[in-house]
Amino acid sequence: MGYTRKMLSGASSTWLEIDLSAIQGNLRQIQTITRRPVMAVIKANAYGHGLVEVGRAVAGAGAAWCGVARFEEALALRTAGIELPILVMGFSDPQHVPAAIAHHICLTVFRPDAAWAYAEQARAVGGRLVVHVKLDTGMGRLGVNAEEGPHFLQSLVNYPELHIEGLFTHLALADEPGLPVTAQQLARFGRAVAAVTAAGLRPALVHAANSAASLVQPEAWFDLVRPGIALYGLHPSSQTPLPAGFQAALAWKARLVSLKVLPPGHGVSYGFRYVTQGHERIGTLPVGYADGLRRQGGNLALVGGQVVPVVGTVCMDQCMLQLDHAPLAQPGDEVVLIGRQGQAALTAEMLAEAWGTINYDVVCGLAARLPRFYC
Ligand SMILES: *Cc1c(COP(=O)(O)O)cnc(C)c1O
Repeated sequence: MGYTRKMLSGASSTWLEIDLSAIQGNLRQIQTITRRPVMAVIKANAYGHGLVEVGRAVAGAGAAWCGVARFEEALALRTAGIELPILVMGFSDPQHVPAAIAHHICLTVFRPDAAWAYAEQARAVGGRLVVHVKLDTGMGRLGVNAEEGPHFLQSLVNYPELHIEGLFTHLALADEPGLPVTAQQLARFGRAVAAVTAAGLRPALVHAANSAASLVQPEAWFDLVRPGIALYGLHPSSQTPLPAGFQAALAWKARLVSLKVLPPGHGVSYGFRYVTQGHERIGTLPVGYADGLRRQGGNLALVGGQVVPVVGTVCMDQCMLQLDHAPLAQPGDEVVLIGRQGQAALTAEMLAEAWGTINYDVVCGLAARLPRFYC
């Protein structure tokens, strides 16, 4: 496999290697933990891992559903021939309804006016739209206020063009276990589900669990779980780490394209924010902020199995490495920004820490222009 990857990436100066079998293994771990059907959340280009490739992989590993944020993402999956049920979890313009019906794409409803507009559109094409109703149980984002949920579902009975298949909510603090918020959200959701059930309106699929809740919050599992980050082998948070057995799927690599010894007092990169102290071995990596590397300091790379610092300002398409700790480095050498090399490893979590953000942001920020190679 290593040889194949080398062949594939041979002409690229920087690229991503994505292990789809790791994603499939992570999906099976979640199935084993929760014993629930899994809606694989593959919005945002599958958290940077590649929408269609990951969609095929999760379909092959027994995912029951795909969850995306935007209608365009759902359409791209259908265009690629992926036949799993798909839920668009964000807002969809009513103009998408005819295509949603034609392509069996489910939309989320959380506004009475949108429900009315969806029904109008469905009626116009003589079709029936499948929808999931979103309740806000405390996140303060999308969703009908949970206490108004039963009444809202009752009002949807007037729209025979809508098939209410699901009822769901989203948890704001599931990755911070021990706080009362998640229990409060689940209690509000539970009351809404009970009221809807008592009224004979319980949809077939009730769901609430993101990755963190899929790992540690069985009361959130209901009929279906909706993990995203854990599928990619990335930790939901430092307080909700993945259990053993999950595997990071993505590596980010590049080739050293230049290496020179600069004399003492030599500036490096825009603004001369780094100036050599002695004779220093400075390498150039064809990776910049347009690839998803951040401009701030603290970036690291692996060269020859050693951790080396990125020095000077990160440019749009390049950055510089200080290679005193990699005396054998040569132009053409493989450099790792995320992944393993020898005994050393750099993770998306480490980059996130250095950048003052979260691993989600690191992988979603990996640019479209990075070639992605799959194994
Ligand atoms: C993104 C998202 C998820 C997945 O969240 P993770 O923390 O990545 O597991 C689940 N549900 C909704 C509504 C989302 O927006």
